[in-house]
Formats: sequence, C-alpha cells, structure tokens
Amino acid sequence: MKNINITFPDKSVRSFPIGVTPMEIAESIGERLAIATVAAQVDDILVDATYSIQKDAQVNLVTGDSPEGHDVLLHSTAHLMAQAVKELFPNAKVTIGPAIENRFYYDFDIDGTFSEEDLQNIEAKMAELAKKDYPLSRKELTRDEAIKLFSSMSESYKVEIIKDIDTSEKLTAYQQDDFIDLCRGPHVPSTGKIKHFKILESSGAYWRGDEKNKMLQRIYGTSFGSKQALKDYLHFLEEAKKRDHRKLGKELKIFTFDEEVGPGLPLWLPNGTVIIEELEKLAKEVERKAGYTQVRTPHLTKGKLYEKSGHLEHYIDSMYPAMDVDGTDYYVKPMNCPHHHKIYDSSKRSYRDLPVRLSEYGTCYRYEKSGQLFGLMRVRSMQMNDAHIYCRPDQFKQEFLAVCGLYFKYFEIFGIEKYQMRLSLHDSAGLGKKYVNEPELWINTEKIVKEALKEGGFNYVEVQGEAAFYGPKIDVQVWSAIGKEFTLATNQVDFAQPGRFGLTYTSEEGIEETPLCIHRAPLSTHERMIGFLIEHYGGDFPLWLAPQQVAILSISDKTNTYAKSIYNKLFDSNIRAILDDRPDKIGAKIRQAELDKINVMIIVGEKEKDTKTISVRRRFSGDLGSMKLEELIDQLQNEIKLRRNTNRKEK
Ligand SMILES: [Zn+2]
Ligand SMILES: [Zn+2]
Repeated sequence: MKNINITFPDKSVRSFPIGVTPMEIAESIGERLAIATVAAQVDDILVDATYSIQKDAQVNLVTGDSPEGHDVLLHSTAHLMAQAVKELFPNAKVTIGPAIENRFYYDFDIDGTFSEEDLQNIEAKMAELAKKDYPLSRKELTRDEAIKLFSSMSESYKVEIIKDIDTSEKLTAYQQDDFIDLCRGPHVPSTGKIKHFKILESSGAYWRGDEKNKMLQRIYGTSFGSKQALKDYLHFLEEAKKRDHRKLGKELKIFTFDEEVGPGLPLWLPNGTVIIEELEKLAKEVERKAGYTQVRTPHLTKGKLYEKSGHLEHYIDSMYPAMDVDGTDYYVKPMNCPHHHKIYDSSKRSYRDLPVRLSEYGTCYRYEKSGQLFGLMRVRSMQMNDAHIYCRPDQFKQEFLAVCGLYFKYFEIFGIEKYQMRLSLHDSAGLGKKYVNEPELWINTEKIVKEALKEGGFNYVEVQGEAAFYGPKIDVQVWSAIGKEFTLATNQVDFAQPGRFGLTYTSEEGIEETPLCIHRAPLSTHERMIGFLIEHYGGDFPLWLAPQQVAILSISDKTNTYAKSIYNKLFDSNIRAILDDRPDKIGAKIRQAELDKINVMIIVGEKEKDTKTISVRRRFSGDLGSMKLEELIDQLQNEIKLRRNTNRKEK
C-alpha cells in the first residue's frame, strides 16, 4: 500500500498508509490524545476526525479544549440535544442550532413550551445517547436529494432552509443512529466524545427572528472538553447573573423603567444620577485638557437637516417618525453630528483654527424594535459622550491617535484590562446604498486609519461591511472583570458629511478646503457605560463613583448628636454620606450598609464620642481601627480626586 507523509505542527514528519484518518493518527500517538481529539485541520481545512487523507498533508489534531475544537463540540452537542428532543417529543420539528460563544442553541417547533422537567429529561436523554457512542456518518447530498429526504421526515423548516440555498451548492448531512440533520460539519466522530455538557435554559424565539413568524422554543446549552472547563463556565454564568445590571440596577436603585413612560426609556434615580454627574465631570476634565470645547444643541430638528446629512436616506429605520410643526417636518435627533457641523459652520475657519474639537453629552433618540430592547444596553433614549473633531488631512493621524489615547486613559481609570478594537470597513457592493458612493475616498480613508492603528501599536481586527454610512468605524470591545464582553465606544472617520454640509477652512494658500471629521464617543452613552460599569464592578463602585460613599452608624441614641456632627462635616467636605441613627442594633445597621455596598462605614459609640474619634470599617478591607475624622476626610478626598480604582474584591 502506498504511504503518505503527514507533517505535524512541530514540523516533524511521519509516514502513514494512504487513506489514514486523523483519529487513526491520534491513536498512533497515544490513547489520551485520541480521546481528546474531536476533529482535525488538514492543510488548514477543518475536517471530521474520520476524514480519509489521500495525499501528503499538514495535520493539526484538534482537541475539545482548543477554540476550533470547542466549536465542533458545541455544534455536535446541539445535534445530540436535537436527537434527544426528537426521541422525547416525536412531533417536534427541528429548525436551526448554531454554536455561539461558549454556548449553542437549537430552536424547535413544538406545541406549548418546554417545562423545567422537560429540560431535565432532555439532558438525561442526551447523557444516555452519548453513552451509546453512536458513530456520526457524513453524507453528501444534492439539493433535490436533501429536499426529498427532509420532506419525507416532515421537517418543513429544514426544507425551507434548503430551498434558500444556492442550487449549485453541495449539501451535507450528519447521521447518528436514526437521527439525521442537515449540517456543514465537521462533527465529533461519535456521540461518546460529548461528555461535559449542560442544558442552560429555554425561551421563545421567532422563526428567522421575525415577529410575524411562528414562535419557536429555543433551548440553550453548553458543552466543554473537560469537567473543569464546564465547571468554570457555569461559575462564570452564575457570577454574571448576580452582576446582571438589570438586577443590580434595581437593587441599588440606579435606574428604572416605567410602563407609562415607555419601553427603552430609562428613568435615572438619584443614585444613577450621581454616577452620571461623576462621569460627566470626568469627561469634561479630560476633554478640557485635550483641547475640546463644550457645546449644547436642541433635541428637535427640521427634517431638512437630516436630508442634508444623509440620515433620512441611510438611517431612517433607526429614527422616530416626523412630527408636523406648523407644516414643517421635525424629528427628534438620532445623532448629534449635523448640529455640531452647523456649529463649526457658524464662523469662518482658517487652517490655523484647526483642529476644532466640539464635545457634548448629547441626548439622542433611536428607534429599536421592542424585541431588541435590553436593559440599559439597548434603549431608545440615550446620552452620548459625543464629540466631533474637524481637522486638516495632515492633522488626521495625530488626532485619531489622540482619540485612541483617550480610550486607554479611561480603560486605566475603570480598571479595564482586556479590550480589542474592531475596524469596520465598507464593502463595495453596498456603495450608493448602505454607504456613500465615494469608492476612492473609502479606500484612501481606510488606508490612513489602518496606518494610524498600526503606528499606534493597537491590537485590532478587521470586519468587512459594517462601516458607518459615511466612513470606516472602530468599535471598542471591552471585557468586564469577570470576562463578559461588551461593545462600548466607537470612533468613526467621516469623509462625506463635511462636504455635504459645505464645511470649509481657508488653507495657507488662501484656498477653501473641506476638513475631515472624526466622530468619537469613548465613554459611550451613559446608558451603556453605566450598564457595563454595574456589571464590571458587580455594584461595588470605586469611591469616586459610588452614589453613597460613607455610612455613619450611630450605636445608640446617646451618640446620635455626635454622629450628626460627623455627617455635617462630611457634607461640607463634599463627601456623599448617609446617617443611620435609627433605633436599631448596630449589627443590623452594618448589614444594611453592606447590602447597599457602601464603601466606608463610620461607627460611633460612647467611646468615640468621648475621645472625639471615629471607628472606621472599609468594605473588603474590614476594620481600620480608630482615627480622627479629619484624617479620614483627607484620605477619602485624595482617593476621590485621583479616582482611584479601589473597592474591588481581591481576586
Ligand atoms: Zn452540525
Ligand atoms: Zn457624529
């Protein structure tokens, strides 16, 4: 028999008989590797572990704990779950079951919903089917064969999906025991490879995400290559649930929604408003030093302005309908840009005046479908840390890098350790539709932005076809303290709007030129930022951001007057304090202050009153002993001024 040469990632080469499978290669290396292998990359293409290799190739065995292997495992577990559902609910129709980050889901058309008990039974059935170790076989089908097959099984959703696929495309299906599913693969070689999985929850979901379609039942699950990895992930989910900004936001009285106000329109409670004020103070300080000037603009604007800006053409779906005011169309503003352009245009600018940096915490209103609304993360009214920088082409790179620098300054203040920039580019098919029709400008600007990012040494990934309609966009993704991902800030380059608005500056040679414009919002919107910060800190805000910084707990009514005098001094020192002089046991008062996640507790009894001292407790550090009030005030003021990132649980 002919042999072929297999090259491994460490560049070593071994000879195997032609037709060898990755699984056989794994077995030849060792039993443990064979057990862990779920698929393989053969010449960089991800294939089944049972794939027959016909020629010399580079082979990388993929185990369940690698990103590629995890995906294969998640997807295979989705099939296993669908098989279990079909066995328990023979009338269920399967639809789609993709793998998403660390999870998978599968949507089923069933009568009614899945109960908690149903989910338990499904999980038990999955364990049973996994144990039987059914091999998975891959079948190639033509489109007609696939339609015939799934029609015969009454899987009408699958038939609908297949009919949408290009006729020339070759389809594949995977079969385990008598369950067969349409899928590209690759998959684990047998169900026994799926060992560490869990069903997470179920919810309703419309077929194809369209509320006009039938409501299906979606089951979420997860699956990992090791018991420990599954355990860690379930712990992360539990922690994320505890930190959910919707739950904590309510408990800590930060924001609320009211039916009569309307969905997606948050009401900021006093505690949330303190956080907002602190964020705005930070932004103003940072922006003043970075050469910005503050402006303010109205919430309501004539349609003419949005015609000019292109919003009515490209952005109408995210805008609220026009209102007729004395026969003229007015809109609530979805973006602040056109107003800032008008401010730029309100005086004559020379090359010496540039860059002009206009900033505003501007309120915008955007229409989000009610099904898309999500806590503070997807809302209909928002206040944005907005600014527009108008500059000459020769200033662009420096301005762009300065904006990136602002992001990093904020990341440091908030203790954000993991982040990534996503550069969204245009696609040429969208020119004139999704994107302004300026092919050359697109290519040039994208080139400059990439150069600037490389020069600044920023880590970024490129995404095609997600740019703003007027230019390339950079989204900044950040990860919270427990590793949950959020998309926060954006930074956009605009080569279209300044021209549309006829914005100019007089060049050194006396010629009227068009400036470039950078849109940026490093602190995102108050809604998104505070939603993120609640989860990032788990409600334990650092002192400078905490709605209440100090709680003064009086041990008995004999010390209430002394406690009140301490409160007054803190108040005069601009430290946010509350006084607990209720006739309650001190233990109960401490517990309440802890529940409210208050940073500093001052406890005063007769001893403190007599010695004119205070007893101090600090959240997460415990008892700090007795000290003079003035000493504490100094410490706290210093900590607040430096915006120190304290009050975090040691990891
Ligand atoms: Zn699949
Ligand atoms: Zn803008």
